[in-house]
Amino acid sequence: MNIGLFGGTFDPIHHGHMALARAARERFELGRVYFVPANIPPHKQRQPMASYFHRYAMVVLATMGEKAFVPSLLEAPGEVVPPAAGGKSRRAEHAMPGANYSIDTVRRLKDTLKPSDRLFFLIGIDAFQDIAKWHQPEALFRECEFIVASRPGYSLADVANALPQSLRPAPAVTKPFTKQPAKGDLVLRGATVHLLENVHQPVSATSIRQAVGAKKALGRFVDAAVGEYIRKVGLYLGR
Ligand code: ATP
Repeated sequence: MNIGLFGGTFDPIHHGHMALARAARERFELGRVYFVPANIPPHKQRQPMASYFHRYAMVVLATMGEKAFVPSLLEAPGEVVPPAAGGKSRRAEHAMPGANYSIDTVRRLKDTLKPSDRLFFLIGIDAFQDIAKWHQPEALFRECEFIVASRPGYSLADVANALPQSLRPAPAVTKPFTKQPAKGDLVLRGATVHLLENVHQPVSATSIRQAVGAKKALGRFVDAAVGEYIRKVGLYLGR
């Protein structure tokens, strides 16, 4: 089965995320897409963030009714690993503050998959631009294929140049691609990147948090149940 892993802060999950996941599911016939809210410890947060539990709850609400979309606790804080027979239960390694790397999440998910399953890592092109700075990026490209939601303004050369240095084609190779829009497939030794065009929607979690603060309607940005949850719980007020 083709399987997608879609990680994000999802603070909150919005129509842009859903459009990306739906486009990837259709184009690559994904039988399942795991939505994995990141557990970002307070000392690593760039701005105040809704708690992991609220973000996970919103992912559950947004994915209801989409059979192939599965909310995932792979990065849940303090997840307890069930005891081996006769042993003591222990805290999962990934529960340790700061140890929240995508490569570990991917490997944990792969441990549960069949050898015949094909894993795709879903990501937007903005986030992909930083991929070389992630923990063990080469290993991440070895473990799974990437599906990147592109948007106007990015070229195929931008995608190739975002790769970790050891996987990046030489400048002479990428130069002709600076004027080619980011679409199609990039298959290199050690990295496979599929590009999805015309998926990006003009919505971001930042603008939604600001809209709540400004008491604006949320229907254009988020699923109705997510909007209701934000209001009921009082998330993002006073931003
Ligand atoms: P923020 O505004 O807080 O930075 P965000 O809206 O970018 O948040 P994230 O949870 O950080 O949301 O994003 C998770 C993933 O979804 C990333 O790979 C990101 O590139 C992608 N993404 C975010 N917004 C969109 C969008 N509008 N269309 C397509 N992909 C998106």
